[in-house]
Amino acid sequence: MQLNCAKCGKEILDKESSFCAYCGVPLDSKPKISELLPIAGILAIIAATFSVALGAIGIVYHQSYIAVYTSYGYDTSGSIGFLLFSAFAFISSVFGAAGGMMALTKKRFKFSVIGLLVMLASALFTFIAIWYYQYGYTEGILLSGISISAFSTASAVFVMHSKPEFT
Ligand SMILES: [Zn+2]
Repeated sequence: MQLNCAKCGKEILDKESSFCAYCGVPLDSKPKISELLPIAGILAIIAATFSVALGAIGIVYHQSYIAVYTSYGYDTSGSIGFLLFSAFAFISSVFGAAGGMMALTKKRFKFSVIGLLVMLASALFTFIAIWYYQYGYTEGILLSGISISAFSTASAVFVMHSKPEFT
């Protein structure tokens, strides 16, 4: 990493030096290292993993909903809600993971934030779908949904906090 003097802009060759060799201005001996963006990236990837799990849960529940309702001779059209949140969870996991990778590499700030917000929106959509279709919450859905919401929100806050570090 190239280090430049904040005052005169010349490159600092001796990184242990506490003064600029050209203009004499005092330097911070160590370059600032961000701690938030690596954490944001890891949180986003954990959230994306939960999002994949949520997508898989949706497909499993969709299958068992159809099996049970068919066996009783009921209409199975209400099962669509499982597929909706499942599809959204799978798609958003890609967005979230991409957002996390951008946070780790400090590239494309906007896309990073959007990816994380898409993942958060997917978790909120899941809660709304379960309420709307009156499926009832299970531990798997609650654990995944709350984890995605918490981790993607924290990640987005960290990314927004570290905006100047993006290239
Ligand atoms: Zn200088």
